[in-house]
Amino acid sequence: MRERIVIANWKMNGSREANALWVSNFLAEPVRLSCRTVVCAPFIYLPELTEACRNTAIEIGAEDVNENASGAFTGEVSAAMLADFGIRFAIVGHSERRRLYGETDNRVAMKAVTLVKNGIRPVICVGETLEERERGETPAVILRQLNAVLAVLKPESIGAIAYEPVWAIGTGKSADPATAQTVHAGIRARLVQAAPEAGKLTPILYGGSVTPENAASLFAEADIDGALVGGASLNAQSFYSIGEAL
Ligand code: 13P
Repeated sequence: MRERIVIANWKMNGSREANALWVSNFLAEPVRLSCRTVVCAPFIYLPELTEACRNTAIEIGAEDVNENASGAFTGEVSAAMLADFGIRFAIVGHSERRRLYGETDNRVAMKAVTLVKNGIRPVICVGETLEERERGETPAVILRQLNAVLAVLKPESIGAIAYEPVWAIGTGKSADPATAQTVHAGIRARLVQAAPEAGKLTPILYGGSVTPENAASLFAEADIDGALVGGASLNAQSFYSIGEAL
């Protein structure tokens, strides 16, 4: 059985007060989710959130990491620093980072490597833009992004792959389940080609306008093992409902 995971990506949102309220609202839900539950938050909140969620069902992750071990990289945070605070997950290669901060496939792969070296599970985001989809380039783009990672990491070291079509992020226009499944099946095939057994076990998450309303239909697809949730994760009850659908 593959692991099923819901991951909240709070992006650059939150405050100490709002975060504490989120945690208490989430933990007020009477039934514990059957899937793994991770909250990825801005670096500065990670220590406080880790404390607040100790011995609960919520695991805490980072939204990014620097690929270098240490040194003169002003403003950056290393994987060792995250590990120092007990962080077990980190998102890398989010399309916002690729687009706004010029992160290349190679740099994303290096970030994943430094996380693995420090015992942190990389959640590697891949996804095509609307223009790429319209040009029929989706499979090639996903394969290129995936290959950069598989050149340096075995599938068993990959914490999860998140397929996030750029056109579906924050737009309210989720990929329809069949469209997402087609891409997920392609990712699965490439992972299995790289490692016939381990490749079957890597969770592949979908991200892009996931809501409590559309989650169940996405999760019904064979290769959709969970979700990476942006907007809807800012509300603890909505995020819980998405986890319930998994
Ligand atoms: P939305 O759920 O807001 O579309 O964001 C998805 C995302 O980018 C998660 O990483």
